[in-house]
Amino acid sequence: MTDLRMTGIGMTSARTRDRLVQRLREQGIANLAVLDRIRNVPRHIFVDEALGSRAYEDTALPIGFGQTISQPYIVARMTEALLEGAPSGAGALDNALEVGTGCGYQTAVLAPLVTHLYTIERVEPLLARARERLKELGIRNVRFRHGDGSLGWKAHAPYDGILVAAAPLTVPDALLKQLKVGGRLIVPLGPEGEQELVRFTRREQRMERESLGAVAFVPLLGGTA
Ligand code: SAH
Repeated sequence: MTDLRMTGIGMTSARTRDRLVQRLREQGIANLAVLDRIRNVPRHIFVDEALGSRAYEDTALPIGFGQTISQPYIVARMTEALLEGAPSGAGALDNALEVGTGCGYQTAVLAPLVTHLYTIERVEPLLARARERLKELGIRNVRFRHGDGSLGWKAHAPYDGILVAAAPLTVPDALLKQLKVGGRLIVPLGPEGEQELVRFTRREQRMERESLGAVAFVPLLGGTA
């Protein structure tokens, strides 16, 4: 890949990206490490070339297989919610699990902010493409798995953080079980049109639940494709 493809020109240039970052700031994203990732991850390489000029608009875009790349505001908000309360800087969390890799954009935003990132996607060709993109970006601390993420990934549990990018109707028990004490699970819950983003924090004796507002995600599906 040429440097120009990575850095972008015109509608994918640094100026266009700065405008997106400014917009997210205005909408309340305050974590500087997160804003820095939004500025530096070339979102345009995760979408079809034909959509490249729209990559820094704050909207979801199609990535094939009936799926979408998440809206930058939502990626930033979820990442910030996951990191909140953790020490700042690189590797703020020791290990984290992502469910619903999609094109790998959220994965690329989060990867340098954790020591180990594990990510699961049920659609094999999407996973393959995400793996390729992250390699191109020189991101090496991510392990990929083709499977049903609602079961979590037991071998590397428990996690400091779990981020789910597709909406189940109710929170999968396996994911709650794979959280460390103090660990956080960020998950959109509910049927299409009525979803809310929820943060669960595992405490010694109980699970804390906070609502982070209304969202719109694709549904979390069982099995693989
Ligand atoms: N954050 C992603 C967007 C993902 S869209 C990005 O930035 O591109 C949600 C993804 O979750 C889709 O790719 C979908 O295939 C996947 N998905 C849905 N149910 C799943 C499940 N049970 N396990 C793993 N992935 C799932």
